[in-house]
Amino acid sequence: MSDCVFCKIVDGRIPAQKVYEDAEILAFNDINPARPVHVLVIPKKHIASLATVTPADTPVLGRMLATASEIASAQGSTDGFRIIINTGRVGQQEVPHLHIHIVGGPDPVGPMLKRI
Ligand code: 5GP
Ligand code: ZN
Repeated sequence: MSDCVFCKIVDGRIPAQKVYEDAEILAFNDINPARPVHVLVIPKKHIASLATVTPADTPVLGRMLATASEIASAQGSTDGFRIIINTGRVGQQEVPHLHIHIVGGPDPVGPMLKRI
């Protein structure tokens, strides 16, 4: 996707602080971190959101999750972390290229959501 910001990061058309990369996935620091550790993990292939995945995407999704703990520890979140996948309008997804947020650091990240 030529106009997708995360595809541009995959292609090297815009820079990012990469923290992990392999043939299928890329992880880089969020440009506007919410916690001391805030990494985005993306599939290199353009997938718009968790709402548009197909069965063929299952292996890369599994690998994104299976790599998260290693990435979190390597970035200094050694005692746990939180995964967030914002999806679509209700999930308030801003960038339409599937990504998982890994948030953490030395301290607990805070309450999950405000109660209704
Ligand atoms: P979303 O709301 O879609 O789940 O989160 C998108 C995230 O991407 C935000 O936390 C935002 O700070 C981050 N982001 C947006 N544009 C860029 C960029 O060009 N580079 C990096 N490293 N992060 C970005
Ligand atoms: Zn993309």
